[in-house]
Amino acid sequence: MSWATRLLAAAVVTLGLWSAAPAAGQDRAALAQELDAWVQQGLDEPQRALQRFTELAAQATAAEDRRALLRARGLVAASADLADELHAALLALAALAPDPMAAADAALVRAEAADAQGHAALALEAATAAVQGYEAACTAQASCDHRAHWQALMLLARQDRRRGLNSAALEHAQAAAALAEGAGDRARQAQALAAAADMAGLQGDAAAEQRLFAQALRLARADGDPLLRSRVQAFDTRIQRRRSDNEASRRAANAGLALARQGGSPRLEATHLANLSDVLVALGQPALALKAVGEALPTARRHGDHRVERVLLHNAALARIHLGQLAQARQQMEGVLVAYRAGGATADLALALREFGDAFAAAGDLPTALRLFHQERQLAAEIMAANREAALAELRRRFDHEAQQRKLEQLQRERTLVTAQLANRVALQKVWAAGAVVLLLAGVLVAVVYHRVRRLRSRLERNQALLRAQSHRDPLTGLHNRRGLHETMAPRGGPPHFEGALLLLDIDHFKRVNDHHGHAAGDAVLVEVARRLAEIVGPPGLVVRWGGEEFIVCLGGSTAALAPAAMQALARRVLHAVGGTPVALPGGTALRVTVSVGYACFPLPPARLPLSLDRAINLVDMALYTAKNQGRNNATGIVQAQGHDAAALQALELNFDLARHEGRVLLERLDGPADPTLPPGAAPGPGPGAGAEPGQQAEAPAQRLPA
Ligand code: GH3
Ligand code: MG
Ligand code: MG
Repeated sequence: MSWATRLLAAAVVTLGLWSAAPAAGQDRAALAQELDAWVQQGLDEPQRALQRFTELAAQATAAEDRRALLRARGLVAASADLADELHAALLALAALAPDPMAAADAALVRAEAADAQGHAALALEAATAAVQGYEAACTAQASCDHRAHWQALMLLARQDRRRGLNSAALEHAQAAAALAEGAGDRARQAQALAAAADMAGLQGDAAAEQRLFAQALRLARADGDPLLRSRVQAFDTRIQRRRSDNEASRRAANAGLALARQGGSPRLEATHLANLSDVLVALGQPALALKAVGEALPTARRHGDHRVERVLLHNAALARIHLGQLAQARQQMEGVLVAYRAGGATADLALALREFGDAFAAAGDLPTALRLFHQERQLAAEIMAANREAALAELRRRFDHEAQQRKLEQLQRERTLVTAQLANRVALQKVWAAGAVVLLLAGVLVAVVYHRVRRLRSRLERNQALLRAQSHRDPLTGLHNRRGLHETMAPRGGPPHFEGALLLLDIDHFKRVNDHHGHAAGDAVLVEVARRLAEIVGPPGLVVRWGGEEFIVCLGGSTAALAPAAMQALARRVLHAVGGTPVALPGGTALRVTVSVGYACFPLPPARLPLSLDRAINLVDMALYTAKNQGRNNATGIVQAQGHDAAALQALELNFDLARHEGRVLLERLDGPADPTLPPGAAPGPGPGAGAEPGQQAEAPAQRLPA
């Protein structure tokens, strides 16, 4: 697609969309496309481009569109060296301050102008400002025309190269290629890659040069625009020339020339002719070189293309040296060198000095050659120093960057550490909290268990006490049992002998109660007898169910109880308590019940030998036996027992009757109450039922029993 068709397409789009409603989105993109086409076209036809810009400006209302138009005007004016136009565009852009994009656009226009003028230093400064402006504004602003940014980067790369800063040049060209690729602009990507290939070659990286150029060529061919291919060819001419493949270089230049013609760009033709003239000089065809220069020079001058004009003059001077026109050549050369020097294009100048020096040397003008050689040496040293400076600055920048990176990493590590420490602390706190909860629970558990154990123990103690109490009690009557008696009267650790009144009683003919009235009636009799006994013997006396229907009444240690009268009174109370009133049985029957009693007061007179409770009971049991034998319903007491020592007393126990007959033991007898059913005067018979044995009146005094 030639520039003309491209322009047409852009114009159609613009007329259809933008002119109707010049505003956002699609319309703005269409305007940008048309402006771009006109800026390209402006290289060859600046006035037509400016005219079109004027027309478009009449419709532009948005500030952004007006700015884009001013930039386009400025760029066309700059490349065509139209000073007034340029000045006007720059003034108008300055008026848009403080718009940062307008400032960047102005810097771009200034860079383009300085480049066209051959002022490498100025162009470098302005292009740098433009790139910085676009970088800052384009990250903040969404609508940012990549074309302007791209052009600023390309201008920057070219100035780097012209000043011999090849590494920076390569970097900027690659940045431009990346930018174009990001915007999907293959034409600009191809041009930037071709420039990058040239710069890689300048750095001596042949592999990168080849790779980048192949990429550029592929993109340019795919695009199909002859002017794009022509521009890419211009780089090929330079690359082949540097490789000293002059024939290939000439072919590339001719191809580029043909494509420029095909695309209808005389200005680009002039560029290729300038390149061709250079190759022709190198090929030893100075006349042809001069012819090419002659062909291109008017075009370059007409377009204000000072850069190409200078190259043409440079090559013309070289051709003249080869043709032996030395004076004319020297004059032309001086003009060229002054221009290079004034523009600050040190690398171009150094190259020119070397070429001129070599040419003059070959032509036999050694003094000129030597002068140029010295100049070139000095310049080369300057370039090297500048390069070293740039390299140092780059190293410093990288070092700073790396140091910063390291610091960042260090900070990151510290942050990670702090985060981990915090996490640890939180985990520790959780562990403590969990521990506290566990401790609390354990405490509660211990308290509960302790409480339970205490309750269990007190219950156990209560049960034990109950058991102990029960084991000391008779369940039927509630009286103390044998164990209770021993516990109370002969406790462990207490005195081994018994002192006090002791009565052993046995219900008379109790078997008959069971037999005639049943076992339950027997039980009722037992309970009633117990109750009556307990009633007459209050504390500290003790009533004990000794076994079956036998009871013991016991009064320990009391002196009053030991008096014979008190003893007899107690025995009598016992006889009357039981036998005095009939016992009411469950069925409603009243039953007369009597008891026989054996009693004694210990220690026994006259020897008052100490006796254990068991032996004391044994002795009163002997007396009870006698009471039974003597007709029941009476109390038989031991008044005295002859025995000077324990053995004598034991013999007495073994045969109580014999001892009684021999007078070793003295007994007395108290009769129980008379049976009220018998006629007065009758003998007091034992109840229930009938042993008609002889007996005494109830209230009769105690009688000594005969031996
Ligand atoms: P004696 O006048 O000679 O004492 O005649 P007795 O019938 O009382 O003779 P013995 O002492 O031999 O009989 C006692 C009877 O007491 C024998 C037994 O069946 C009865 N017995 C013992 N313990 C209980 C008891 O707890 N309840 C009842 N109902 N009877 C009992
Ligand atoms: Mg009995
Ligand atoms: Mg009995």
